[in-house]
Amino acid sequence: MQDESIRDDRQALTGDLAAMTSPLQAYLETLHHTYQPLREGAMADYIPELAKANPDWFGICIVTVDGRVYQVGNYDQEFTMQSVSKPFVYGLALEDHGRDYVLSKVGVEPSGDAFNAIVLDEQSNRPYNPMVNAGAIAIAGLIKGENPAERMNRLLELFRRYTGRTMRLDVAVFLSERTTGDRNRAIAYLMRNFGMLAGNLEETLDLYFQQCSLLVTCHDLAVIAATLANDGLNPITHERAVDADYVQDMLSVMYTCGMYDFSGEWAYRVGLPAKSGVGGGILAVAPRKLGIGVFSPLLDTRGNSVRGVKVCTEISRHFGLHAFNTCTDDTRLREAIFGRL
Ligand code: GLN
Repeated sequence: MQDESIRDDRQALTGDLAAMTSPLQAYLETLHHTYQPLREGAMADYIPELAKANPDWFGICIVTVDGRVYQVGNYDQEFTMQSVSKPFVYGLALEDHGRDYVLSKVGVEPSGDAFNAIVLDEQSNRPYNPMVNAGAIAIAGLIKGENPAERMNRLLELFRRYTGRTMRLDVAVFLSERTTGDRNRAIAYLMRNFGMLAGNLEETLDLYFQQCSLLVTCHDLAVIAATLANDGLNPITHERAVDADYVQDMLSVMYTCGMYDFSGEWAYRVGLPAKSGVGGGILAVAPRKLGIGVFSPLLDTRGNSVRGVKVCTEISRHFGLHAFNTCTDDTRLREAIFGRL
């Protein structure tokens, strides 16, 4: 009896050591060390509360579809989700209304414009896609619920399923966005002018500002990304976050539009569906393999995290994760996770 429990303990210990010394963990630590000194970029300051972030914050996390976690740096520092929320609320709108109806309201074309452009497709009057602000505001207007509280609770519940933990709102960021959000207000009024946005505009904008103000960590981003990589099933809690039917819709718009007007170059260089936010988060999905979360608040001129773009580019290249990598040999990734095979 005693012998057995000693053996169990020893096994648990060796398991922990394996995770601590795994080549993938070591690789992430090297990456973190390499890019920590990079000070390019600037913090988003058009939402005053966001400018209070620390430029040194930097976290990287990878979660595999079988629930293994590798993380380094400020992986548990909270920050606001901002635009990283957009594909997931889009997924909920698809569940609420189905593909055809949602497509009649919001297109799926990359726009080549900035994320906050006040522009609609001239022929259809639709926002170009759900990843730019116009599209995301239209999507927020489609979320079902009797009243604002019920709609917000549905979003909290949605992200609870994706992250596996209770979500909280950064009220200061929410209020900051709401008081300085006239550009988003202008977009909403333009859509109403064309009959593309019904209902109470201020309520819809509030829901949009609230989804942007949800607090997450870099670890959460990797779990969310791994959930999409795992066909909508959270690999840690095993709870379904979204109907598997819509995962490909979400990944498609992330692939073509997720990094704003850097999306083409991102698709070319990194080759993974991804989404960034002006809070400094980026998540990237390697379907059927893993999810990546990176957090660093210094942004480039397009609103993407500078360290985040570098890290995702490196990880994708190192493990051959590009969607169109024709080499099917994934030995390098398997060895990084399991040791030499
Ligand atoms: N809340 C931000 C805005 O609407 C989101 C933008 C972003 O993360 N790119 O401007």
